[in-house]
Order: sequence, then structure tokens, then C-alpha cells
Amino acid sequence: MNSFSPNMLKTFEACPVKYYFKYVQKISMPQKSSFFEKGKKIHALANYYLRGDNINKLETVLNEEEQNVWQSLKNNEFFKKTYIASEYNLSCKIGNYWIGGRLDALMKDENNYYILDYKTGSIPKNPEYDYQTMVYLLCAAKMYGNKLKFVYIDLKNNQNCTIDFTPEKEKEYEKILIEICDKITNAQLPEEIEHYKICEFCEYNKICL
Ligand code: SF4
Repeated sequence: MNSFSPNMLKTFEACPVKYYFKYVQKISMPQKSSFFEKGKKIHALANYYLRGDNINKLETVLNEEEQNVWQSLKNNEFFKKTYIASEYNLSCKIGNYWIGGRLDALMKDENNYYILDYKTGSIPKNPEYDYQTMVYLLCAAKMYGNKLKFVYIDLKNNQNCTIDFTPEKEKEYEKILIEICDKITNAQLPEEIEHYKICEFCEYNKICL
């Protein structure tokens, strides 16, 4: 049975051919690592910190910009809530499909559980219906119930974007996700590949004819 992550769903929506290269043929292409470096460092540090590891030495390798981002995360009201888990793998079944992914962190207070997602770049344009939001909320709801919020922590602008989970949303999200999973399962590659503006920035463009 197929299992889908938010990245798989986003990739298919952006370009089914790219999905085919990446997840069917399992071809991985090199990407510029500097683009991801700051985000990776902050995510790793946040995980060690929340687990209670000593991070004094690790903090000293951050440059000034990374220090500011890290301080802003440490001072974030949601990051300070009660810790449950970080880098946390969750999955669940909807219809005939398994969906799942890895949460940056799960926190709680007396009222709610909070799925945290730290963004050093930009947050999604339509966060309520982003595949990551929908997949993580559905998976966490199966484990922790409906008193659940998704929080994008926007470290670039030092602000939060909070999305509430409701029984109505549960049904709506399931419907949307089953639809895209059905599309992927039944997809056929086009005989001729059309190229668009996004192809310029695609890591597969050299092998995509
Ligand atoms: S080069 Fe264009 S068509 Fe080919 S995989 Fe990338 S985005 Fe898709």
C-alpha cells in the first residue's frame, strides 16, 4: 500500500514528471546546500534543546544571523510550552492510503496540543490548506484528539500563524488528501513533456527531455 508524505503530495501537484523522477524512479539530484543550511542547523539545535541535551558548544558555531534566529525561536511563546516530542514521526490511514511525516515538535498546555513547524524561509501561501498542515493535523488528531492547533513559527518575520483543527476540517482535509492520493495512484506520464517557467529552477531539468 502506498504511503504519502506532504513533500510527495506537493511535488506531484507542482509537476507529476518530477514526482516520477523523485519518488518512482528514486533519482536524487544534487541541490545547493547553502540554501538549506541555516534551516537545518536551527532544526537540529531545537531538537537537542527540547530533548534536554547540553547545547552550549553547539550554540557557539552559529553566526550572528543564526544566533538571532535561534534566540527568536527560544523566546517564542509556543516553543516554551510543555514539551511532548520533537522530530516526531507520525502516520495514519485515510481511505486506502497511509499518510505521514515528521513534525518539528509537539507541545501542549492545559487547553491544547500544538504542532510546531519552524520556518527560516517563508511560510506557505495558503497555510490552512497546505499539505503539510493537513497531513500533520490529521495524523496528530488520531493520537491526541481534536484539541489541536498547527503553528507555523515564522522566524524571518518573528510572528506565528496558528491554524485550529475542527471536526469539519477533519472531513474536508480527508477528502482533499484522498483526492490527490487517488490522482497520484492513477497518474500516467504524458507522452510529450511540456516545459514551463518552473523548469528553469528544477533540479531534474538536465534529465527531463
Ligand atoms: S524540468 Fe519541468 S517538466 Fe521536467 S521534472 Fe522539472 S518541473 Fe517537471
